[in-house]
Amino acid sequence: MSKENYSKSSNELLKSTFLQVERAASYLGLDSGLLKVLHEPKRILTVSVPIRKDDGSLEVYQGYRVQHNLARGPAKGGIRFHQDVTLEEVIALAALMTWKCAVVNIPYGGAKGAIICNPKELSLSELERLTRRYTMEISIIIGPEKDIPAPDVNTNPQVMAWIMDTYSMQHGYSVPAVVTGKPIELGGSQGRNEATGRGCIYTIEEAASYTGLDLGKATVAVQGFGNAGSVAATYLKDLGCRVVAVSDSHGGIYRADGLDIAEVKEFKVRTGTVAGYPGATPMTQQELLGLECDILIPAALENQITEANAADIRAKIVAEAANGPVTAGADEILYQSGIMVIPDILANAGGVVVSYFEWVQGIQHFFWSKDEVNRELRQRMVSSFREVFELARREQVSMRTAAYMIALERVKKAMLLRGLFL
Ligand code: NAD
Repeated sequence: MSKENYSKSSNELLKSTFLQVERAASYLGLDSGLLKVLHEPKRILTVSVPIRKDDGSLEVYQGYRVQHNLARGPAKGGIRFHQDVTLEEVIALAALMTWKCAVVNIPYGGAKGAIICNPKELSLSELERLTRRYTMEISIIIGPEKDIPAPDVNTNPQVMAWIMDTYSMQHGYSVPAVVTGKPIELGGSQGRNEATGRGCIYTIEEAASYTGLDLGKATVAVQGFGNAGSVAATYLKDLGCRVVAVSDSHGGIYRADGLDIAEVKEFKVRTGTVAGYPGATPMTQQELLGLECDILIPAALENQITEANAADIRAKIVAEAANGPVTAGADEILYQSGIMVIPDILANAGGVVVSYFEWVQGIQHFFWSKDEVNRELRQRMVSSFREVFELARREQVSMRTAAYMIALERVKKAMLLRGLFL
């Protein structure tokens, strides 16, 4: 797909990512030819994934693995199983990974993979066959030195274990560093499961200290009570914040004097949703987004805050635990309203940072304690936040534009040092 088509794409995430890169590139005065190279994914692999279903019938699923830019190191990015996922979305998510890895300065390029399927309609053994066959199909481009997958929406440590096992079988020995987000027993890292939520909190702590917000008195709303969102809610409560509202795909709940997050978690494990939790009042997903609070954490999916509802946002800080929750148009509105947005490529980078630690541990066969992981994670998130915040202040741009400026500059430098080989 050409550069012109990205700006006209019907996929909002691809269009927004494209526009954010363009905006940062114009501040940097980046060469337009180089910008074309930076926009385009390096490789797109489309695979058909046939499996035998439990009832004996054959089904074929479509899968993708997109590698966006490999100038700074092997490709890195999660695998998403979702019925609505499209190639354009995967391209955008792969590009976000390139910029994210560059912002936090870890030696990776960006990638993303997906299978168009509804995992909730598959049995565990069907899911295993689907994962293994997909791994075989993409094994021509993945590997610890080439491209290292990880979990994303609807994939988890068990799926990573199947990928690692299938890839290892092909090679005749265990290759733990081919994926991250593995179970601890197979070489996974301490702290990986909580890393995205924890990393997000480190950026919020920094934002609070720069803006003079007292976290001990702050109110919080979290959209999406999954892995990233529930961990963030837990840690914020531990810091003394009042988490007044949370939601998931079934609905939201509100309690003015603060929710008991541990109890809400237990309720969700028991019932599959936070909706209906007896200790709170029901609230719609839209009401949650427009709640008057200090910190709003969108931690569900992309395109949640758009030009249609951006003016309703009343939080002081929006920390994007999800990828692409704010569209480019909405981003401008939030910036003009003086709301501090900690952009996704910074706020949720904790996941890939600890994935990087897991990969390093796997290659060295030498494992770190949880304290060591969290200390290194904090150091990396805090220094990245400060770089972005200070550039934003100096250049009078949003934190998102500043983050993209830093990322583009690092990737550009790596590309030019290697030479373009045209
Ligand atoms: P998850 O599946 O564990 O959680 C997602 C949650 O969002 C679920 O509780 C779901 O019910 C809820 N949800 C879906 N639609 C909603 C809606 N319209 N309103 C409210 N809630 C809704 O997924 P996750 O791993 O926590 O990922 C969430 C987001 O964070 C994604 O954008 C993902 O790409 C991003 N992310 C995750 C990680 C990670 O390590 N898990 C790392 C970086 C970025």
